[in-house]
Amino acid sequence: MIYFDSHFHFDPEDDLNGVQTRMREAFAAAGGTAEDELLVASMGGGWQESLAARKFAHAWPNGVFSAGIHPGAAAKETVSPEEFRELLRDPACRAVGELGLDYFYQDGTRTRQLEVLETFLGMALEEKLPVILHCRDQENRFQAYEDMSCLTAAFTGAGGKAVVHCFTGTVPWAECFLAQGCLLGVTGIVTFNRAENVRQVAAMIPEDKLLAETDSPYLAPVPLRGQANTAGNLPIIIRKIAQIRQDTPDHIAEITARNAARFYGMN
Ligand SMILES: [Zn+2]
Repeated sequence: MIYFDSHFHFDPEDDLNGVQTRMREAFAAAGGTAEDELLVASMGGGWQESLAARKFAHAWPNGVFSAGIHPGAAAKETVSPEEFRELLRDPACRAVGELGLDYFYQDGTRTRQLEVLETFLGMALEEKLPVILHCRDQENRFQAYEDMSCLTAAFTGAGGKAVVHCFTGTVPWAECFLAQGCLLGVTGIVTFNRAENVRQVAAMIPEDKLLAETDSPYLAPVPLRGQANTAGNLPIIIRKIAQIRQDTPDHIAEITARNAARFYGMN
């Protein structure tokens, strides 16, 4: 069985061997066997993290990575988007991201976030790469979703491929992005008590639009909350998605791995 964590972060300060060892140990503890394979995509959320993502991808079997600027870093990143092109042309770089809009933590930098996002969306079309999008709003306000959906409509309309990762919006917003052709990513939030909306969305995503992700080291799933998360915990999230969709974990692992491999242009 192949498991594919479509989205995790490798901290530039972290020790590569230590992170790999923790991933393998957690994968075994979560039920992964010696015959199972764990594929991963490491995310770039700024220049330093994009370099770290590349380093990880080059060190992991069939590893892929993305390069871009996270909305939380948009106002402070000193390297310009144009300078990311050399990273985007690395053979293991298969996506632009993590990009997006965060009006929850970073409400004061909306203009800069939108500028950075639009610049990278244009570069993604030029470089023929899919994009990984982060979208977060203040509770019960959906301006970030409205702004994002205008940009994704234009992007997918121009032939671009996108995933709205760690989707925590409502079912109607999920339907909006799905109608545009976007994929949706489901993280360990799906195991949290209060996340009924995320379970509703996880139940309705069509099979060919569903990605599974840990977003580690953030968002450790129940029963590991409070610990540092790792890509090795992916089977826990897969089992929860399977339970919600009244499906088997093997089938969810299979479809999410197939979707991630297609999204990242792998065979
Ligand atoms: Zn992330």
